[in-house]
Amino acid sequence: MSIERLDAVDGVSAPLAVLREVFGYPEFRGVQQQIVEHVSAGADALVLMPTGAGKSLCYQIPAILRQRAGHGVTLVVSPLIALMHDQVSALDELGVPAAFLNSSLELNEARRVEQDLLAGRITLLYAAPERVLTERFATLLGALHERGKLALFAIDEAHCVSQWGHDFRAEYLGLGSLHERFPEVPRIALTATADEHTRADILERLQLQDARRFITSFDRPNIRYQIVEKSEPRRQLLHFIQTEHAGEAGIVYCQSRKKVEETAEFLSEEGVPALPYHAGFPAEQRRVNQDRFLREDGLVMVATIAFGMGIDKPDVRFVAHLDLPRNIEGYYQETGRGGRGGQPADAWMTYGLADVVNQRRMIDESEAEEDFKRLQRAKLDALLALAEAHDCRRVRLLAYFGESGAPCGNCDNCLNPPVTWNATEAARKLLSCIYRFHQQRGQRFGSGHLIDVLRGKETDKVEQYQHQHLSTFGIGADLSEGQWRGVLRQLIALGHVQAQGEFNTLALTVSAREVLRGEIQILMREPPAARSRARAAKGRAGVEAPPPVGPAATRLAKLKAWRAETARARNVPAYVVFHDATLEDMARVVPGTYLALGAIAGVGARKLEAYGEEILQLLAAEE
Ligand code: ADP
Ligand code: ZN
Repeated sequence: MSIERLDAVDGVSAPLAVLREVFGYPEFRGVQQQIVEHVSAGADALVLMPTGAGKSLCYQIPAILRQRAGHGVTLVVSPLIALMHDQVSALDELGVPAAFLNSSLELNEARRVEQDLLAGRITLLYAAPERVLTERFATLLGALHERGKLALFAIDEAHCVSQWGHDFRAEYLGLGSLHERFPEVPRIALTATADEHTRADILERLQLQDARRFITSFDRPNIRYQIVEKSEPRRQLLHFIQTEHAGEAGIVYCQSRKKVEETAEFLSEEGVPALPYHAGFPAEQRRVNQDRFLREDGLVMVATIAFGMGIDKPDVRFVAHLDLPRNIEGYYQETGRGGRGGQPADAWMTYGLADVVNQRRMIDESEAEEDFKRLQRAKLDALLALAEAHDCRRVRLLAYFGESGAPCGNCDNCLNPPVTWNATEAARKLLSCIYRFHQQRGQRFGSGHLIDVLRGKETDKVEQYQHQHLSTFGIGADLSEGQWRGVLRQLIALGHVQAQGEFNTLALTVSAREVLRGEIQILMREPPAARSRARAAKGRAGVEAPPPVGPAATRLAKLKAWRAETARARNVPAYVVFHDATLEDMARVVPGTYLALGAIAGVGARKLEAYGEEILQLLAAEE
């Protein structure tokens, strides 16, 4: 077969035929088909897609097609050794010959992989960059090349080549040499990191200037964004999980290791199975926890940002942030780990005064160059604007990545438009109170005392400083403490007030004057407690049906039990056997024949053969 023409058989192109036959998916998503055709034909590509959009197929299908056409093996360079085993198992399950070479293999195992490679028995080979750059590997590649059996180089997580991002890996810089040695082998580089600077680095350092660029929308329509005001974060988290995601897998991000451990413990005690993960744990424990999260159903991973890159578990149904991330890139990458299988997922965050203060201070007090700090501040400002927004969160997120769109209908602000009130007057009162403190004896105070004074509370501290005589004492009795905290939070978020020093004492910035003069309007959202918590039904255009109920739910439970057992027996994560969405379809449709079963998305030829009979029996045995 001539790959260059991608022959159509019965009106179905070769890539589409592979998608259906091997992967069991009916259609390509977005630009996948164009990428697959382009790369299968031997051309270079740079692929920028958000997490969960389906990058893997963009090199896996070309790998299969090029192997079939006699071009040999595809080398996949990936920094994530811990995940290679699962990636290879998943391909195995699909009947695609794959292997990995990394430091976890015994010498004789590595030898066998090399022999299989030279004998042309492998379609995809995964290796970490440090491995690829060894002498021995170079010899292996040379031998394959001599036989004309190097089909494609796929460079995953390509942003690791850039110092700009936080995932920089020095070994990635060496990958340019692959192209120098084997200039005619086509390459595809893939990443979910969008910003200009990183993109330019990738093109230059991997010498991909002439590659065709495929940049897709960064929208993840099935993710629902919610940012809630922080009151009792752990209780709020528990409530969120119990009411909306009981029994489902999710990730909870916290800023500190201590908080990770405490939160995991708290959730476990409250009956939500949770595991901790942060860089302070020994490698072995991290591996075990990561493995359990990937393999078992319905676990919650509580983690610092050390967790997550390359985690392609499709059934993560929520990503929660207990602390504000550093910037929108981080927020988007972390939340992007939810809903990869296409089902509805929640990105949920609690956000409060302390978050704003902490993030601002972390930048102020860091040792970095002033230029760098300025950039960090600008990035934080964009995130704070998102957190304080009254309008569509998605529109703001996408705007940050240079995309425009209409309000989404699937974020908190769209579903439940916040009632706003004009807080300009309140803001002026608050600012003048800070001003009066300072005027009195050059003193500064923190938020607690400030709010007490505004609300006219006669505390010991008020007595001590004689603040009951200030003109601002009691001028804000009409607002609750929570409302005042909200006003202050927004003033800090907007940069009109600064929290300083060990005690977070408050000071006015230059721009406060404009608010005091009434030149800037401050709009606040009504505290959420004041509104009904009515929740619109999940799902909108393009998002799958809600989970089954009634008898279908019973069938689904049986299918999941079968999957758990099968996955255990084969030592693979459950989703490698079938995704949740596939099982849900089976439970709903109740296919009675091989043909009907094979028509369900996610059931390819190999899985139909391996599991078809068991599933048909299981479904037939019902009632
Ligand atoms: P990425 O690497 O871009 O984060 P993956 O390649 O892991 O995303 O794909 C995310 C999920 O979407 C996977 O579970 C994958 O099987 C699924 N997927 C990808 N392409 C399709 C498709 N055309 N139809 C259905 N599911 C798909
Ligand atoms: Zn919206």
